[in-house]
Amino acid sequence: MLITVKCPGCRRRVNYWAADLVQVLGPEHQLHEPPFPCSRCRTREVDVSWSIPSPRDLQGLTVRRPVRQVVKWIWRDERLELWQKDSG
Ligand SMILES: [Zn+2]
Repeated sequence: MLITVKCPGCRRRVNYWAADLVQVLGPEHQLHEPPFPCSRCRTREVDVSWSIPSPRDLQGLTVRRPVRQVVKWIWRDERLELWQKDSG
């Protein structure tokens, strides 16, 4: 099943495989809900539709697919505590 997300604001249109969205977003994600905000104008008010394309429809179609998951480290500065004056 193919999920098509259309942004009414900037008219950006992205196709996803439903199976990819389930894998990335988990089985609780509702397919009629926008999987991601519009990558161009960041709005969440996008139109979601699904279809079962025929092999002819798939000819030359661009589908956005997950490549790899990126794990990102978050860093923070930690201030070291001062030595106590009377530590004896
Ligand atoms: Zn947009």
